[in-house]
Amino acid sequence: MSQVNNQRKRDWSIEEAERVFGVASWGGGYFDIGQNGHIHVIPQPNSPDIRIDFKAVIDEIRGEGIQFPIVIRFHDVLRSQVVALNQTFGRAIDAAKYEAEYRGVFPIKVNQMREVVEEIVDAGAEYNFGLEAGSKPELLAVLAYNTNQDALTILNGYKDEEFMRLALLGRRLGRKVVVVIEKFSELVSLVRLSKELNIEPMVGLRAKMQVKSLGRWQGSSGERAKFGLTIAEIIKAARYLEAHEMGDALKLLHFHIGSQLPDIRAIKDAVNESAMIYAELVHMGFPLEYVDVGGGLGIDYDGSKSTNDSSRNYTLEEYVADVVYGLKEVCDLENVPHPHIVSESGRAITAHHSCVITEVVGEIKPDGAEIDTTPRENDHVLLKNLYELHQYIDDHKNYQEVYNDATQWKEQAAEAFKLRVISLEELGKIETLYWQIMRKVQSYYQSEDFVPAEVQSLDFSISSQYLCNFSIFQSAVDSWAIDQILPVVPITGLDKPPTKNCSLVDITCDSDGKIDKFIVDHELSNVLPMYDIPEDEPLYLGMFLTGAYQDVMGDMHNLFGRLNEVHIFSYDDDPEDFYIEEVVKGSSVDKVLSVMQYHPSSMALDVKKLIDRQVAEGHIKPREGVKWTDFYEYCLEGYTYLNTSKP
Ligand SMILES: *Cc1c(COP(=O)(O)O)cnc(C)c1O
Repeated sequence: MSQVNNQRKRDWSIEEAERVFGVASWGGGYFDIGQNGHIHVIPQPNSPDIRIDFKAVIDEIRGEGIQFPIVIRFHDVLRSQVVALNQTFGRAIDAAKYEAEYRGVFPIKVNQMREVVEEIVDAGAEYNFGLEAGSKPELLAVLAYNTNQDALTILNGYKDEEFMRLALLGRRLGRKVVVVIEKFSELVSLVRLSKELNIEPMVGLRAKMQVKSLGRWQGSSGERAKFGLTIAEIIKAARYLEAHEMGDALKLLHFHIGSQLPDIRAIKDAVNESAMIYAELVHMGFPLEYVDVGGGLGIDYDGSKSTNDSSRNYTLEEYVADVVYGLKEVCDLENVPHPHIVSESGRAITAHHSCVITEVVGEIKPDGAEIDTTPRENDHVLLKNLYELHQYIDDHKNYQEVYNDATQWKEQAAEAFKLRVISLEELGKIETLYWQIMRKVQSYYQSEDFVPAEVQSLDFSISSQYLCNFSIFQSAVDSWAIDQILPVVPITGLDKPPTKNCSLVDITCDSDGKIDKFIVDHELSNVLPMYDIPEDEPLYLGMFLTGAYQDVMGDMHNLFGRLNEVHIFSYDDDPEDFYIEEVVKGSSVDKVLSVMQYHPSSMALDVKKLIDRQVAEGHIKPREGVKWTDFYEYCLEGYTYLNTSKP
């Protein structure tokens, strides 16, 4: 269990803050802690002079009256990631003397927001970077946005006949649209439709891979994988195309062994396996042009550079080198042409570009209230025991014993209360004394080298929960669903030592709506070092790396809707190095109610009628009635989250 001990507090510095919060470890070169103790953004690592102070961004957002919580998108970070991926492949291809090109695609399921897709297409234009779709709605979007004739459009997922027709429409528009066959029957329908419409398709085959990957998505490979063709099916598919005189349409071999691959070995193995299948197909007379290595390029969410589920044990350069050299080696051995390389990295491109900023709106303490514990004559013996323990605690030599006794008596008191042996008031006093004793025990162990396990867990039970104005189900769904670790850091004040350890809870009425897994000082911790909530201004927390999946997979639990979004561009000539390019309003209450089939305007009318009746009957003054009517409508049009602005 990590905690910020007293020694640390005395020697606090920015370097110390960096060690505790690990900003540079997960920041990917885009985030660090500035000398002023604020989080800084370096949106273009190639231009390190452009540094955006996060505090300035928040001040401007507040100045414009935009309500928190908000999503902030750094468009330059997104662009930088697209460029980094393409240039890294380009460099490795040159260095390896690889005789084909990189033609990556962005799988839009990772973040389908139009602004995100547009920015990626634009930043990738000079590299002919394309898009990938996995469903009909995504295909409709991709057909409209991926207009570069030289960029690939890759279509994965299960497909109906309409899907195939849309793919062929793409071919009619002169695009390189590749239909990746996930199961054999799809090929039958694609061949039939292509003949009917007289359009030559581009066909890809997704291979079911033998390689076992580590990580959360290891079910994406192996025999029980949901997608892909076995070796026998691949051969059958190729022969089927040949039999229909469409052997030339077979262009691409695809695999995807799971997202967030923590271990580079799985990637090496998969590349090798796919290269062998590719080479064999070429030998069989099918000169495929592309090998698509899918997604899986991980993000180091916890900054540990390890095979933890939330980390990766390799860099972008190593990943790319393994793909390029892995393919080259097999192809040279087998004496077949090098295929163009396609990858479908979604997470790696988008994760860093967006974050969620929320305010801490309250503190929930385990010992939230204390009552007067002055002893009285007839107090129960359990209560008397705790008085004495509390009174003479400083004389005690054995704090472990203090802990054990107090805990046992508190448990016995709870039982005694159920049996009506002690009163509610006595139980309240016992609680008060118990927590006072526990705080003493905890502070005693702060300066000790050896801390018993029970006392370690005391840190967690004694810590506060900070109530944050957001919904984990909307903004950080993987943190709830799959224990994904997302970095959380206060935006300012990091030049001072933290004052307490806290876990975080959201504002949903769901006890799962909490975050109690953090990486602190490179270790997993239930609590995060935190600061007291200032009197005069909000305490802002940033939850980072939310640009992949989190941005788009959230739900409306408790009818908390989409967040207000602020799009930031960097701009060197600006004194603060940035400007707000766009504000996208989040969901209003009437909008989320409409999604659930309510009729907000008639609801407003109904409530108005109810108020009018109270007015008519003389229970409410007319002026007051108008105010209530207006207030109901004002809230209907308002934001779904807590309104923390002072009236
Ligand atoms: C989800 C998915 C991806 C994206 O994977 P990342 O790990 O986010 O890069 C790529 N290809 C396919 C087929 C997918 O299903």
